Amino acid sequence: MKNNTENREIPYKIILAEKELPRNWYNMRADMPGKIAPLLDPVTMEPVTARALEKVFCRETAAQEMDETNRLIPIPEDVRNFYRMYRPAPLIHAEFLEKMLDTPAKIFYKFEGNNTSGSHKLNSAIAQAYYAKQQGLKGVTTETGAGQWGTALSMACAFYGLECRVFMVKCSYEQKPFRREVMRTYGASVIPSPSRTTEVGKKILKEYPETPGSLGCAVSEAVETALNTEGYRYVLGSVLNQVVLHQSVIGLETKTALEKYGIKPDVIIGCAGGGSNLGGLIAPFAGEMLRGERSYRLIAVEPEACPSLTRGKFVYDYCDTGKICPLAKMYSLGSGFMPSAIHSGGLRYHGMNSIISQLYHDKVIEATAVPQSDVFKAAVEFARVEGILPAPESSHAICTAINEALRCKRENRAETIVFGLTGTGYFDMPAYGKFNDGTLSESSLSGEEIEKSLRTLPDIAQ
Ligand SMILES: *Cc1c(COP(=O)(O)O)cnc(C)c1O
Repeated sequence: MKNNTENREIPYKIILAEKELPRNWYNMRADMPGKIAPLLDPVTMEPVTARALEKVFCRETAAQEMDETNRLIPIPEDVRNFYRMYRPAPLIHAEFLEKMLDTPAKIFYKFEGNNTSGSHKLNSAIAQAYYAKQQGLKGVTTETGAGQWGTALSMACAFYGLECRVFMVKCSYEQKPFRREVMRTYGASVIPSPSRTTEVGKKILKEYPETPGSLGCAVSEAVETALNTEGYRYVLGSVLNQVVLHQSVIGLETKTALEKYGIKPDVIIGCAGGGSNLGGLIAPFAGEMLRGERSYRLIAVEPEACPSLTRGKFVYDYCDTGKICPLAKMYSLGSGFMPSAIHSGGLRYHGMNSIISQLYHDKVIEATAVPQSDVFKAAVEFARVEGILPAPESSHAICTAINEALRCKRENRAETIVFGLTGTGYFDMPAYGKFNDGTLSESSLSGEEIEKSLRTLPDIAQ
């Protein structure tokens, strides 16, 4: 018996009561010793003001974007009420995975796929839609990669009666027609990006007529449309500090659930696209580290095909391909980076949230990149024993959790591993199909390609 005796009282699913839903989001920045570098205006290269951000974003979320002093930000009662439809999310003890791996490690995962959108993105979508409604706006624009964010936002906008225009990365639009229909069912209009409805879209199409699209490009189109449409603002499902803030609900619930059973994690793992679920999951734990109270290994997992932390540079870069959004100091592969059409649409972004970038730079967190074939192998192993069909994005975290559990086995260490299972993979069956057929291609990314893309970084004093 390796770990079952001491754990007998831990249920397979730790489910918190509704009243244990956090009342505040936690803002890690308040506990960071150094402040993160400010966003820069793309024209003047001066730090942006909240005023300037309000032209693009909602007033309240612009304020949250800049907030580096308030540790706790109250979750509006209305948002908390919506959260009650699908939260608290369960923290699951992966007993069957442990058994299959024959590891002395204990493994837990926080499952965020228990809502129609199928991922954690609803946590921020509902907050952003709430603030847009409060401000009396008519609608919002956004981009979506794999479609999870667009779906989440469509649901949130339907709830508040807001219009919703979604620019969907073209390869996902084609690969995932059902995603598109879910969004339309919730009332959103969905446009493949790059499109001819915007100046930036036309320009990109002229330069790269065959492009499968990218998140960076779809962002540019959505921002341009918001700026040109009365009563509209732009909302974003990842990368921004406000999104990491809203996602802290994941980590706060996880911490409460672990503490209830006296479980002390050693390793906490999340997949990283723009960094929001990872940032949210690790937030309260990173907070303890920043305050010098405890230490953990916090690991970001990215795809080998889009390795912004592990192979990018920590510099000021544009957040979008069209260079109309502010610049952020972050780990980036260059805003011109066009990742190959890997099947984890949600992890195809060229940069990384600034807080996560700074924490990585300061060695508070680690990062690793995994190849697509290992990710799908881990996904299938996981599905067969734990039952849940994971999203390919989430499977990056599964892959690293399995690797860590196998390391524990080799070293005979009973560490406790917690990972974020961000969503389900029902709309990713074409990719699973390729894996099952043995035709999933591995796109290797050469140093040369990365060098070429890094040369597109803006030449400003860092
Ligand atoms: C969008 C998405 C991600 C990546 O986004 P982050 O902002 O890095 O969290 C991961 N998993 C799923 C299921 C997603 O939809």
